[in-house]
Amino acid sequence: MSLLGAGEIRELAAKLDLKPSKSLGQNFVHDANVCRKIVRTAGVTSTDIALEIGPGLGSLTLAMLEEARSVIAVEIDARLANQLPITATAHTDRAHLLTVINEDALTLKTLPADPTVLVANLPYNVSVPVFLHLLEILPSLRSGVVMVQAEVADRLAAKPNSKEYGIPSLKAAWWADVTGAGSVSRNIFWPQPNVDSKLVAFTRRATPGDDELRKKVFAIIDLAFAQRRKMLRSALSSMYGGSAAAEAILTQAGIDPTLRGESLDIHSFCAIAKLG
Ligand code: SAM
Repeated sequence: MSLLGAGEIRELAAKLDLKPSKSLGQNFVHDANVCRKIVRTAGVTSTDIALEIGPGLGSLTLAMLEEARSVIAVEIDARLANQLPITATAHTDRAHLLTVINEDALTLKTLPADPTVLVANLPYNVSVPVFLHLLEILPSLRSGVVMVQAEVADRLAAKPNSKEYGIPSLKAAWWADVTGAGSVSRNIFWPQPNVDSKLVAFTRRATPGDDELRKKVFAIIDLAFAQRRKMLRSALSSMYGGSAAAEAILTQAGIDPTLRGESLDIHSFCAIAKLG
């Protein structure tokens, strides 16, 4: 199967009269080797129902169609969503395995089948909320690889006591083990973005609690990092009715109240949330 190259990307954009939108993060990949490498890194196999968010002109989609049992692609831009099946038919006899959905991934609720693997070059402005939303609503997603802005990748994969560690790292860690999976040159995009990109790989694991606990944990995480330099006893004081009460809860959870949020892993936040 031939994938999209720079020439065809430009031709398709001209045909659709598409001026890539910055707010929709429309930077299209024109390097077939990179697309195949991403799909390989995600470990997509012939038993997988693969999900792509933001297929754009189809660079990654075609590479996914080479490997997956089927592909579901969710694209917000109607012009791109309408063109994609046409492009797929022109490139492969596997186009019937593709389902394109013209929707906003942020408000996505259901899909026609349960995807097992996520492969996406995520729109940069909404990459973290989209990633967390998918992990929440699609329990069938067992693993995947997403491409995001380098700085965001570092935050998603960060571990405690690093400057990148924070809300995205902790919320992603509720759902999955997340690791860095390499850098991507900005030269492979049209138009070329002015930030670098990285790949992030994830593998889902059992969550540390139910959805009620998750909501509490996420609220505590938001507070702990609202003022990153504050000690936990004062960062959480509004939640517990004063810093003395917050200190008591933290001590009961076995956590030093003078620590900052950046020192705690997801299990420590769970220990706090479980106390009320
Ligand atoms: N996958 C293509 C590639 O690698 O060449 C395009 C990736 S481009 C970085 C992001 C894509 O996400 C664009 O096609 C854009 O229209 C789409 N997009 C932006 N916001 C979206 C949203 N909220 N839901 C679904 N798609 C979105």
